[in-house]
Amino acid sequence: MTVKCNKCKEEINKEDLEKNYYICPLCGKLNRMPAKNRLQMLTEKFDVMFNDQEFTDPIDFPSYKEKYESAREKSGETEGVVCGRGTIGGQDTCIFIMEPNFMMGSMGTVVGDRITALFEYATKHRLPVIGYTVSGGARMQEGALSLMQMAKVSAAAKRHSDAGLLYVVCTTDPTMGGATASFAMLGDIIISEPGAMIGFAGKRVVEQVTGEVLPDNFQSAEFQLKNGFIDDIVPRQEQKAYLANILAIHAETVSA
Ligand SMILES: [Zn+2]
Repeated sequence: MTVKCNKCKEEINKEDLEKNYYICPLCGKLNRMPAKNRLQMLTEKFDVMFNDQEFTDPIDFPSYKEKYESAREKSGETEGVVCGRGTIGGQDTCIFIMEPNFMMGSMGTVVGDRITALFEYATKHRLPVIGYTVSGGARMQEGALSLMQMAKVSAAAKRHSDAGLLYVVCTTDPTMGGATASFAMLGDIIISEPGAMIGFAGKRVVEQVTGEVLPDNFQSAEFQLKNGFIDDIVPRQEQKAYLANILAIHAETVSA
């Protein structure tokens, strides 16, 4: 079984790509990584939570159900985010990982419900939250209800923050639209993967609206780091150690 690299378009053995954290061995491109592989990479143990919400089609959007079912099949996940509790470098933490193969992590009501429930659980149990974002934005198939998730998740993240608890976000390619306009930018620490696109509206839209010509690297992680949008860029292979270190420092501060 082979898969095509997103950048160089070469066929790569699927197993080799998985073993290499979905980084292309030929061109170095970070290909999109499924949530379950990220969890394997980051955690020693992980229990999935808030996994039982049912599909709803609130505005009866044409072909939504078919699209949803094919997303379930393609991703092997029940929705666009996986939430739960686990350990990273032995540190107990809540974790959410958005799933690129489920409608590109688009944010619908179930995604909002799950992340909100996770923040509420983390607040109650005084745990940090580590979140990985990948999202094309709000899920148009759920209309205004998908936009309401931004406020709901943000409010839960604020209560978690007010309780003095740590929230670290890792933005991955792409993190756009409603995710960027809410929980993806609310972390106490925001890191990114190299080369990820992070923004609200896309480059073409911004150029059309403002009439300005934007630089080639507009909205890349490197551009956003230079402009103070994010705190650090961390290679995929180093993320586990990086996060474990932050969690360990935070745990010491909390217990002190
Ligand atoms: Zn490649």
